[in-house]
Amino acid sequence: MDENLFFMRDPWVYDPGAEQPQRSDENLGFDTRALHAGYHPLQDLEQFRAFVPPIVPSMTYPYKRFEQIPYPVYGRTKTPTAALLEERLASLEGGEACLTAASGSQALFNLIFNLARPGDNIVTTLNTFGEGYKQAATIFPERCGIDFRFVKYPADPESWDQQIDDKTKLVWVETPSNPTLFVTDIASVADVAHARGVPLMVDNTTATAALQKPMALGVDIILLSITKFLSGNATVLGGAIVGPEALIEDVRWNTTEFVGAIMQPFDSWLTLQYLETLSMRMARHSLNSQKIAEFLADHPKVQHVNHTGLPNHPQFTLAQEQMASPGGLMSFVVSGGMAGAAKVMDSFKLICHAVTFGTSRSICMHPATITHEHMTPAERVAAGIADGLIRLSVGLEDVADLIEDLDQALARI
Ligand code: PLP
Repeated sequence: MDENLFFMRDPWVYDPGAEQPQRSDENLGFDTRALHAGYHPLQDLEQFRAFVPPIVPSMTYPYKRFEQIPYPVYGRTKTPTAALLEERLASLEGGEACLTAASGSQALFNLIFNLARPGDNIVTTLNTFGEGYKQAATIFPERCGIDFRFVKYPADPESWDQQIDDKTKLVWVETPSNPTLFVTDIASVADVAHARGVPLMVDNTTATAALQKPMALGVDIILLSITKFLSGNATVLGGAIVGPEALIEDVRWNTTEFVGAIMQPFDSWLTLQYLETLSMRMARHSLNSQKIAEFLADHPKVQHVNHTGLPNHPQFTLAQEQMASPGGLMSFVVSGGMAGAAKVMDSFKLICHAVTFGTSRSICMHPATITHEHMTPAERVAAGIADGLIRLSVGLEDVADLIEDLDQALARI
């Protein structure tokens, strides 16, 4: 049978010497690209001529003749609305191409499943989001024979180098990390990975391209949870990878095609609307979180604050160089361990206890019992996830109201 009928693509082969292709829109500013990339109402869709890009909800795409099968044909792998979102995200990250997924976790899963085979390994750290850790610690090793190596001293490039061998298919960095805001030196780790012929992926979910440009620091692949700041109000679940087109199409047709699925048209369309205000939202998240971090740092019931904008953050200087501003994610350790954290969280009047971050309304969460409960106690200690640690996603509210809420809740310990 004609193998084209299966839409398979040649596997991507990482070429450490390859130049990153120039994007044709890179002369435009970030906010202009957030509003225009991938869609021009008059040029692109003459049949609609709509100022706002239309949603195309069809999940199947008919073709005229048997022997001329066009793409897309089916909504699991490609639709016009998701394709527009993919183009816009690629533009914002400065990458060649993008592939969306039903969630950030699925985007990670599809990438690793596509790149690695039994016996291969991936190098990362304990400074990753909870579901990512679970994929690395159990799902892939136990079910696919893919080993994950956790770098012991992520601030030391040598420590990364020691974990890489000829079976390493990917180096994976999350910076700043969720929930402890560890900042990894992207350019240094890129140098280490590239010297060993291995591509580097950076998870840019917490900072977003509005605040951090990993591609400009030599990164090959970006991982994104769209669920967080990119959509910004807990109405969308989605994820994406951005990278070389050959890799993106390899994952699209050799993995997503079989295990599902790109983002749905309505979710893609909503995200396009939300991206238009991304940089303004991130600036306000940053301003609010900075003021809250300074308030908490002086509070007698708070033992420690993780925030990249505080001068006592261990990678403060690096964070200043790598990021335009701190963003809205932070965490802090309260007195009284687990009981202290429970008391504070139960006492909030404005701040809501929920599992996500990056929303316009402030949210708190307890990593030790919710997202990182699968880690061993020793791993949690190594990752800085104390029993009294509260993750705070600082929203867009008036910051004085948030500080008042924190103050009255901390007074209950
Ligand atoms: N990357 C980071 C840094 C995250 O914190 C998360 C989720 O918490 C993900 C990726 C996965 O995103 P999703 O919740 O969309 O699966």
